[in-house]
Parts: sequence; C-alpha cells; structure tokens
Amino acid sequence: MKIIKKAKQMQTIAHKLKLMGKTIGVVPTMGALHEGHLSLVRIAKKQSDIVILTIFVNPSQFSPNEDFSKYPRTFNNDKSFAQKEKVDYIFYPEASEMYGTDFETYINCEKTSKMLEGEFRPIHFRGVTTIVAKLFNITEPNIAVFGQKDAQQAFIIEKMVKDLNFNTKIIIAPICRTKDGLALSSRNVYLSIFERDDALILSESLKIAKERIGKGERNPKQLQKEIRKIIDTRNSSKVDYIRIVDASSFTYPDKLVKGTEIYILLAVRFGKTRLIDNIKIKIK
Ligand code: AMP
Repeated sequence: MKIIKKAKQMQTIAHKLKLMGKTIGVVPTMGALHEGHLSLVRIAKKQSDIVILTIFVNPSQFSPNEDFSKYPRTFNNDKSFAQKEKVDYIFYPEASEMYGTDFETYINCEKTSKMLEGEFRPIHFRGVTTIVAKLFNITEPNIAVFGQKDAQQAFIIEKMVKDLNFNTKIIIAPICRTKDGLALSSRNVYLSIFERDDALILSESLKIAKERIGKGERNPKQLQKEIRKIIDTRNSSKVDYIRIVDASSFTYPDKLVKGTEIYILLAVRFGKTRLIDNIKIKIK
C-alpha cells in the first residue's frame, strides 16, 4: 500500500494505471475510519482492480462555526485499517495541496444543495462537490463508492456526475449500524454515554415510521409529526429537520405513492453533536 500526498503524483499514477487497462475504484473519506468506511472499501475492491482510498478533512465544506479543527484525525489507525483491507493507495494530501492561496473555482449543485442539510449548512455541499470533482480529476475513477448514510450528499454527487459528464459510476452503499441501531459516524465519539443512549431514538423512530407506512399511512406530514413526537421524548435531542423526500428527485411529495421510493431523512442534535440518519422505503 502506498501513501501519496501530492496531487500531481497521484494523477500520474492513476493515469498510468488506466493506460495499463486497470479499473480504478475510489472511496472518498475524511478519515477517522470505521466499519462503515470499510464496507465501502470492500465494495470498491470487488468492483475494480485498484482501490484508492482518499483521506482529506475538507476545509471548504465546514462553516467557521463547525467542527473542522476538532474533527477526529486518526491517520495511523486509518492506515492499518486500510492495509488490512488491501487498499492499494491512500491519497492523503495537505489542505495547502488541494487549495492554494489563490483558489477560486467551485462547483455547486444549485438547487438540491440549498435544501435540508444545506439549510443548516449553507456552504457545505459546494465544498463537497468541489472536492469530489477535484478528487475525481486526480484519481480517474471508473467507480466511486459513497454511503447512503449521507443520502443527500450521494444524490448531489450523482447529479454532478450526470450534469458534468464525469466518466465515473457512483455506487451507493447501505448504512452500517451498531448492533443497537446507531448509524456509525466519525462524530459518534463526541457523544456522552447519555447522549449516545438518546441517539438510539433515530433508528428506532425510522423503524416505527416504516411500520406505519407498512400499515398504510400515506401522509408525509403526519409521519413527520409522529417521528418528531418520538424523538422529542429524549432529553438531549433537538431536531433540525425530519423530512420525507422522493428518493429519485429529492422533492417533497404531498402523498406517498405506490411504486415510488422515498427517504425519511433526520438531522438531530444530541447536546452539541449533530447526527444524521435515514431510511429508504419502497412504497407498496
Ligand atoms: P465521511 O468520512 O464521514 O465523509 O464519510 C465518507 C464516506 O463514508 C461517505 O460516503 C459516507 O456516506 C460513508 N459513510 C459514513 N458513515 C457510514 C455508515 N455508517 N455506513 C456506510 N457508509 C458510511
């Protein structure tokens, strides 16, 4: 496994691999790796000859009031995880390598980046699409694997790839959870024992909502109200949003229609830690 820190060097390697006929699978991450990230690596490994794991805590997707400086950085640990998974390259650049002082070109998915997460984190998706586009230009991936955990992000990346004709297939991997249902996240380390216990309400409420839909509830507003009531029972919880969107368009349906797929998307703070979770449901 090689660790590459320079964009030009990574780009030269990727380009040579492509000329040799190899397929490249890329897994973009911010490090602090957990099983969720590794599940993405395993998918990339199965579907391509060479796997490039990128580790970069991307400053342009954090607002000044967010956790950029305290975001967990565990490179030595990440390196041994990657080695065990037989990753071929880790691309691990410095911020100065990715954003020179004269950087001024951004990519923005105009509409979808403003809703949901974008309402609470206005510059977030502009930072995400810009860094992912840069990483794609540097690593020339045939496939890139993202997690459903960040469903809006995955949707926006798919949109960017389609809108800008990137020659990369996007694969969206299922959410990895702990046995008791908490979606794995690098930010879970911020939770106190009590907050972690409260946070289990996210997956519990999604499960209950799925059951309600199974029993015939078709009104998104009613479901959102019921989920909110459940989450509000936990002391440390503070809801940012609970929204149902059509999974193929990220628009808000008035009614759940048979044959369509939806996401129920949650963003809730537990103390100072903001968590997101979701479930994808096919309406029968
Ligand atoms: P991050 O390092 O948090 O930016 O995440 C890197 C990638 O891992 C993103 O595509 C995430 O959606 C994905 N990811 C994060 N948590 C999980 C999880 N619990 N299960 C599956 N994928 C995940």
